[in-house]
Amino acid sequence: MNSSTINELNHSFMEQAWLLLKAKKDAPNYRKATGPKKCGNCKAWDSSKTDDPMTGYCEWYDFMCRADHTCDAWVGKK
Ligand code: SF4
Repeated sequence: MNSSTINELNHSFMEQAWLLLKAKKDAPNYRKATGPKKCGNCKAWDSSKTDDPMTGYCEWYDFMCRADHTCDAWVGKK
């Protein structure tokens, strides 16, 4: 196994560990959005999990959130 493969494995492990850690905490400062940063346009938002367009699944914090809400971990989609 070369060092770049080990680096990739380490990266993947750290990513999984981080996702697991984050999932155990509540979304930081989850609240009604007052600006353009909303769950509905966050990278973690998955609208395919529900039929309601205003409700989606937060993949990072493992809960159903509202499209018009936000939290401090918001990251825009690319
Ligand atoms: S803003 Fe926060 S709660 Fe909403 S989808 Fe993104 S990470 Fe999840």
